[in-house]
Amino acid sequence: MAINIDEMAVFCKKKGFVYPSSEIYGGFSGFFDYGPLGAQLKRNIMNSWWKYHVQDKEDMVGIDGSIICNPKVWVASGHVGGFGDVMVACKKCNENMRADHIVEDQLGVQAEGLSSEDFDKLIKEKDVKCTKCGSDELGDCKVFNLLFKTFVGPVEGDKAVAYLRGETAQLIFANFKNVVETSRLKLPFGIAQMGKAFRNEIAPRNFLFRLREFEQMEIEYFVHPDKEKECPYVDEIKDYELLVYSAEMQENEKEPVLMKASVALEKGIITNGWHAFWLVTETKWFEELGACKENFRIRQHRKDEMAHYSSDCWDLEYKFPFGWKELQGIADRSDFDLQQHMKHSKKDMSIFDEETKKKVVPFVVAEPSLGVDRAFLVFMFDAYSTRKDEKGNEVTVLKLNPKIAPVQVAVLPLINKLQDKAREVFATVKNNFNCFYDKSGSVGRRYARMDEIGTPICVTVDFDTLEKGVLTLRNRDTAKQVRVKIEDLNEKLNLFFAGEDFENLGTAVEK
Ligand code: ATP
Repeated sequence: MAINIDEMAVFCKKKGFVYPSSEIYGGFSGFFDYGPLGAQLKRNIMNSWWKYHVQDKEDMVGIDGSIICNPKVWVASGHVGGFGDVMVACKKCNENMRADHIVEDQLGVQAEGLSSEDFDKLIKEKDVKCTKCGSDELGDCKVFNLLFKTFVGPVEGDKAVAYLRGETAQLIFANFKNVVETSRLKLPFGIAQMGKAFRNEIAPRNFLFRLREFEQMEIEYFVHPDKEKECPYVDEIKDYELLVYSAEMQENEKEPVLMKASVALEKGIITNGWHAFWLVTETKWFEELGACKENFRIRQHRKDEMAHYSSDCWDLEYKFPFGWKELQGIADRSDFDLQQHMKHSKKDMSIFDEETKKKVVPFVVAEPSLGVDRAFLVFMFDAYSTRKDEKGNEVTVLKLNPKIAPVQVAVLPLINKLQDKAREVFATVKNNFNCFYDKSGSVGRRYARMDEIGTPICVTVDFDTLEKGVLTLRNRDTAKQVRVKIEDLNEKLNLFFAGEDFENLGTAVEK
């Protein structure tokens, strides 16, 4: 069953995934806190991303940069001068709104790339109204810089101004030379980073989708400037199907088309093998962690949306209940950032290319940049389902992939008398899996509680455990049960978490 974003926020709070930040003081717009289950789920998502993108790849390394750094980084990157959204305020109720959002919502037009003047004209001509009070008395549009300012050191003042990082990516560029010199990397290679980013968003909305404090998982992938289109990995991804929404399809009001990556390349829809490679790699990461592929598409930026330094950009989009929205941008940034930092720092950013025996400033051919909180929402939406229980009541089953489920195994004594044995079983598994011990309530209720938070397996200790040394394992998604010997428990659970079918783990229990 599909739920909307507000219902998801309610569910997340009720079950301990996410709470409004500082709620006892009325909350704080754009800020949320992850509760016990949410913190674990988010950590699992980030660990999986790091393993898939950094640890499992020979051409990737990772860094962990500081949140506050020399403000010159943000001058060089262009964030101090130009990292803004166009804002418009209502003269009647003082509500601040993002001009692109109200224009898109009320007029149904794409508004990315429009200037303040364009917005002023549209808002006046088409009678766009305040989203809060409905008034058409809106002020003039102005650009609002999204960087959060702070002061470093004991004296406040212009000289002490620094910024909370607006993205993690700039730290990759600022550390580029250090990383290359200490990691013996050869082109092509990527540098990854995950961590907090901060944007003083004009209108945070849609729960975790648009926050003022959020987390990113970003990669800058560097290639030789003369080999910008030579991706050696195209063969690995050529048969993977993507729902493609090219700039041409958007301009001619056509529907997106499902096609293999190889077809998109042959037809010249995707012009660079690296882009196809990264778009597939990213979609696959989601799919392998249990997201539904049908809810993903790749959308090319139209010319009017593209940054001036970018020759092509594709977004990975997800079908949220409030529409198709960006999860991740995969942009071609050429050598724009390294050149900017070279200019401002006066430090050489070129590297020696062994093959051509020349110094080159590498190109960033792709910048897969993903918001953790948006990924968190994807996994929650795609996992959320309901079924009828034995009494015909509708119950929630959160079908999270076992690899990221916050609780992997719950150990339940059938009745209180069996607690000693259950504790013994718990002790044998708790070091290997994320486990939860639950003794309170009927076993049916405990199963239901575990289904709601996405625990893939419950291990029940019953009288047969005492008499015959066997345990009952119950599967969240099917409610089926199998019997397993105590001494085999860890091995069977390992098999399950490695992908083995639940039914193959032991002897089926007939209902
Ligand atoms: P949007 O158009 O949605 O504001 P953006 O194009 O400004 O996003 P990028 O600067 O490309 O976003 O940031 C990379 C990724 O970081 C985004 O694709 C998104 O997943 C995440 N992200 C950006 N801003 C936010 C935010 N305010 N809250 C949560 N995640 C965000």
